[in-house]
Amino acid sequence: MAGAATIPTVDVAVEDGTITSPFAAGPRRVPEQVWAIRSRNLTKAYGHRRAVDGVDLRIPAGSIAGFVGPNGAGKTTTLRLLLGLVRPTEGSAAVLGASIDNPMGYLPRVGALIESPAFYPTLSGRRNLEVLATLGGQPRARIDAVLDIVQLRDRAGDRFAAYSLGMKQRLGVAAALLNEPELLILDEPANGLDPAGIIEMRSLLRTLRDRGLTVFVSSHLLGELEQLADWIVLVQNGKLLFQGPIDELLMRRRAALVVGAEHPGDADVIAAIARRDGHTVEVVDGRARINTDRAYAAQLNRAAMGAGVTLTEIALERATLEDTFLTMTGGH
Ligand code: ATP
Repeated sequence: MAGAATIPTVDVAVEDGTITSPFAAGPRRVPEQVWAIRSRNLTKAYGHRRAVDGVDLRIPAGSIAGFVGPNGAGKTTTLRLLLGLVRPTEGSAAVLGASIDNPMGYLPRVGALIESPAFYPTLSGRRNLEVLATLGGQPRARIDAVLDIVQLRDRAGDRFAAYSLGMKQRLGVAAALLNEPELLILDEPANGLDPAGIIEMRSLLRTLRDRGLTVFVSSHLLGELEQLADWIVLVQNGKLLFQGPIDELLMRRRAALVVGAEHPGDADVIAAIARRDGHTVEVVDGRARINTDRAYAAQLNRAAMGAGVTLTEIALERATLEDTFLTMTGGH
């Protein structure tokens, strides 16, 4: 817990939307542009508890932005604030350029799946969407289009009750797409899905991003969003821990050089050299594990040779993103 407060919030994009990260040109997409969501000091208190605490959120338009934090971190409350379902105690936010003080200024352009939508179990997927389209004043012609997007067209005639959990979630996304939104907000859409369902959901969200939507999707598991999100927002105890391109977060993973040498006892010599050079080291299973980066490898190699030790292995190990996240959030 103590470590969490010491981690500065990283914000690599400047105010006008220009991305300054050297990784912006990489394979993950972080488009140059406006913020689809922007908040300043957004705060929601319930009694003495600040469920959302002074959050300055920036979500780039056209990206898949992952919103990650442990249970109770304030994700759902933030999403509810952004959808105008609850009022902030302090601060402000704009969604698609319009203030959350006036949700009707942007809600017609937003699709959301916050809690599992109430579908009629005995009606087919298509009939359920027809009911929602009628209630929402959307054209029925849109139904085939959204069924195609979520790949449920061939099962659209089946009763909702007979759908798998993954199909139910995709129907929920279809419902959120009925109004042709520019921004889709999804609260834990992968919760409870099996690996195949998670892969389908990822592929659906990528398709939507590639069609130009901004997708803001929450999860309590970073691993779930690691392969999907272009942009990551990490929260804990209502506070922002990190926001920026996923590559920026990947760079923060702790590195270690794992070094093996020819003879028993050599690892202790290596450890002594590395300690002399100011690094912390553990010797595990006859190998030295040095908490440093690749840049130290050549220097170590020379020093080892000078000490009469022949190295048989130098490997760079990186902590997983999930481990990095756990370190940042104090192990929760
Ligand atoms: P989870 O992943 O478990 O859904 P979360 O990150 O979405 O968690 P929130 O549901 O936003 O977290 O809750 C944040 C904190 O605010 C929690 O401590 C929760 O108990 C509290 N909270 C949320 N809604 C209310 C409410 N209506 N009244 C009182 N406290 C609330």
